[in-house]
Amino acid sequence: MTQEMIDTLRQISAPYDVWTDELMQGHTTFRVGGPADVFVEIGSEEQFSKVLAYLKAQKQPYFVFGNGSNLLVSDKGVKGCMIHVGNQFQEIRVEGETIIARAGAKLSKVAAVAAEHALGGMEFAAGIPGTIGGAVYMNAGAYDGEMAQIVTSVRALNYSGEPVVFRGEEMNFGYRKSRLKKEALYAVEVTLRLHPADREEIKAKTDDLQKRRKEKQPLEYPSAGSTFKRPEGNFAGKLIQEAGLAGASIGGAEVSEKHCGFIINRKHASASDIRALITLVQEKVRANSGVMLEPEVIFLGEFPKA
Ligand SMILES: Cc1cc2nc3c(=O)[nH]c(=O)nc-3n(C[C@H](O)[C@H](O)[C@H](O)COP(=O)(O)OP(=O)(O)OC[C@H]3O[C@@H](n4cnc5c(N)ncnc54)[C@H](O)[C@@H]3O)c2cc1C
Repeated sequence: MTQEMIDTLRQISAPYDVWTDELMQGHTTFRVGGPADVFVEIGSEEQFSKVLAYLKAQKQPYFVFGNGSNLLVSDKGVKGCMIHVGNQFQEIRVEGETIIARAGAKLSKVAAVAAEHALGGMEFAAGIPGTIGGAVYMNAGAYDGEMAQIVTSVRALNYSGEPVVFRGEEMNFGYRKSRLKKEALYAVEVTLRLHPADREEIKAKTDDLQKRRKEKQPLEYPSAGSTFKRPEGNFAGKLIQEAGLAGASIGGAEVSEKHCGFIINRKHASASDIRALITLVQEKVRANSGVMLEPEVIFLGEFPKA
C-alpha cells in the first residue's frame, strides 16, 4: 500500500491512528502472527463504511476481524489491511427484552449486560472469547446454544461499504456458518431477542458452564478453542485421542492432553508450528479412522507447504 493510501486511511479514521507493520500476535488468542501491512481500528459505522469503500476503490486486499479468537495468522504476517472491529466499537443498548450491540462488543460483556437486566438466553455465550460480530459470522455456539437462536436482526456493510439489514431468519445460519461468511458482509450491529429470567438462575447457569469449560478445556494456554469442526456423528477430540495424538507436538505447539480437540500454544509456538501440527493431526486421524477433520480455525497469510 502506498504512503498516500495510508495517509487517506488516517484521515478517514481520525481520531484513531492507522498503524503499519502491527504485529498480529497481540491481536489473536493463539498469540502468534506476524505484521499486518496496515491496521485500522473501527470507531463508527461511517468510518467503517468509508474504509471499505476506499480500499475497494484502490483494489487493496483487506480482512475484517474481531477478537482474533478463531484466527491463525502466518508468521510472515498479512498483506493489505487488517480492519479491527473491537474495543472502540462496542456500545450495548437494552430495550425491553431486546439487546442491540455494536459488532465489537465482547460476548462476555453482552452476556453480563443481559444478566444485569434479568434477561436469559445468552448464558451459553458468556465463555466464548469473541466479539458479537465474529460470533454471528461463525454462528458461534456451545452447550446446546448458538447465535442463530437469539439473533433477530443484523445490520451489516457489504464489500463496497453499503449498509444492508437482515432478519435473523434471513441470515442462513448453519453449523459454524452464516450469510456473512458466504457473501462477504461485515456486521455493524446485532439485535438479540432474549427472555425475562431470574438473575440468580442466569448466574447459576453461567457459572456452571464456566466451571465445565475450566475443567475440560486448556484455558491456561493460548489457543483458538476447538481447532476442528465437529465431524458428522462424531467428535474431533475423540478421534484425535484414538489416533494416539494426545500431547503430540511440533515446536511449541501441542495437542492438549486435557482436551485433544484443542491445539495449544504450549511454549512460544510459531504459527507454522501450529499449522504443521494441524496437518499432522488431519493425516493421522484420517489414517486411523478414515475421517478428514476440517479446521474450524481460519488461516490468514502464507504458510510453508506441508
Ligand atoms: C478458549 C476458547 C474457547 C472457545 N470456545 C468456543 C465455543 O464454545 N464455541 C464457538 O463457537 N467458538 C469458540 N471459540 C472460537 C471463537 O471464540 C469464536 O469463533 C468467536 O465467535 C470468534 O469471534 P472473534 O471476534 O474472535 O472473531 P475473529 O477470530 O476475529 O474472526 C473470526 C471470523 O469472523 C469474521 N469476523 C469477525 N468480526 C466480524 C464482523 N464484525 N463482521 C463480519 N465478520 C467478522 C472474521 O473475518 C473471521 O473470518 C473459542 C475460542 C477460544 C480461544
